[in-house]
Formats: sequence, structure tokens, C-alpha cells
Amino acid sequence: MTGSFASVRVVLVNTSHPGNIGAAARAMKNMGLERLYLVAPREFPAPRALWRAAGAVDVLERAVVVESLAEAVADCGLVVGTSARERRIPWPLLDPRECGQRVWQESAHHEVALVFGREDRGLTNDELAQCGYHVHIPANPDYSSLNLAAAVQVLTYELRMAALAATGEAQSPDWDVPPAPAADLDLYFQHLERVLVEIGFHDPANPRQTMVRLRRLLARIRPDRMELSILRGVLTGVQNLAWRLRTAGSAQATDTPAAPRLEDRQVR
Ligand code: SAH
Repeated sequence: MTGSFASVRVVLVNTSHPGNIGAAARAMKNMGLERLYLVAPREFPAPRALWRAAGAVDVLERAVVVESLAEAVADCGLVVGTSARERRIPWPLLDPRECGQRVWQESAHHEVALVFGREDRGLTNDELAQCGYHVHIPANPDYSSLNLAAAVQVLTYELRMAALAATGEAQSPDWDVPPAPAADLDLYFQHLERVLVEIGFHDPANPRQTMVRLRRLLARIRPDRMELSILRGVLTGVQNLAWRLRTAGSAQATDTPAAPRLEDRQVR
């Protein structure tokens, strides 16, 4: 199977300047991409966006406006976040060339999102944690932050180059199960956090970096749907056991017939 531009969307988060939205649309269309998602843009639609889009007004007209990043990427099997600087917790990182190749390969099999941040602050740590990979354009270390639409241009150009290079090349063998989409990963994390609180492992009042580190672990593994559903089953099993232990504990306290204690269960 060959990659497909139609499966790749560009997501712009909280863009301040409509001119940048128009310029990003133009950059995309020049490279063969048409699907633009705008997460809570400050000003859109806007005449300044149309002017900068030039011949790519159709991309703007079909842009999908949503409220949150989670909504914009819910059905994506691969989500790549861009970052102009190093973050506190390192993440699986691609350079723009590797990003182009991976996005092209995976676009043969599922929806892919390239996510770009705010002009002033980029993406939040929470938004970056929703991405399977981060990509950094290795710019001048003394001035590494590109204009938003320029960053879109670099990454979509690399995608186009990867597409041109792959034409006629054999694709890697297909995985047997599709990757878990972003929305399922979110649900898994909500479930995991509930269970970790229930069993006393995680204290939401003192969260440290536990959840974001676990999220990164999953990001490195990129579980498929089947693997994630097994992990969900394990969580449910842990919840059932915790519940049985709690009810057994209260049964003992009221002197009703004793259920096995935790120690007895563990030696089995
Ligand atoms: N001051 C912000 C920079 C935001 S630039 C920060 O430090 O994060 C606006 C957006 O352009 C970024 O969120 C990112 O999507 C993209 N961008 C700019 N420079 C980039 C670079 N060197 N590598 C990857 N993306 C970059």
C-alpha cells in the first residue's frame, strides 16, 4: 500500500494571527495537502487569512474548526507534535526528514496529524503529551523559532519529498492490527489514572510527573488496538480485585464469614 496525502491533516492550535492560517494553507496546498484543522483560532474566518492563502482559499473554506486538540486528532493513528525547543521530559523525537518518511509510510494505513502550536508559546506540555512523536526543525540554536507557516512549509516539504522518494519503492510489511487511535489512548489513560488512585499508587494532590511519564512510555510503544484493549482488560481486573478486597475487609470487620485475606490471595 502506498501513502496518501488525503490521510494527512495539519492541525494549528490556538493560532493568533489569521495571516498565519492563510499562509499555512498555501504552504500545505503547494505540497499537495488539503486538510486543515483549526483548534480554537483567535480570529477565523478572516479577510487577512484569505489574502495570505492566495490560491489556497479552498483549503481555508474546507478547514475544520474544533474546540480542543483531542477532538482534532481523535481518529488519528499517528500524531506528531512540533516543538521549537527542548522540553523538560524528552520524548520520542524525529527530525523533519524522518518525520516526512514516517508520516508518508503510515498514511497508507491510518489517519495522521501534524500538530503546530501558538505563535507565542508553542504547544503546552499537556498537548505535547498527546503526541506519539515530537519533531524539531534543527534551526539556529540562538534563534530556533520559525514563523508558524514557515514551520508548516518545512514539514510538508519533507513529506512531499518522502512521497516522491517512495514512489515505486516497496513498502514495509503491514502490521496485523491497526494502531490505537488517539481517542482510545486518552480513554486508557483516564482509566489507568483512576486505577492508580484507587490502589493508592498515585496521589492526584501530589501528581509529580507520573502520568506524563506513563504517557511517554505508551508513546514509545505505540500500542495497537488489540494491545490497548488487553491493557484495558488488565485495569478492569485490578479494579475487580481491589473491590473484592475492600468488600472482604468490611465483611471481616462486621464478623460475617471471612473472605480470603490479601496475603492468602498473593501466595496462590
Ligand atoms: N515561542 C514558541 C515558538 C512558537 S513558534 C516556543 O518556544 O515554543 C510557532 C509554532 O511553529 C510552534 O509551536 C511549532 O509548531 C512551529 N515551529 C517553530 N519553530 C519550530 C522548530 N524549530 N521546529 C519545529 N516546529 C517549529
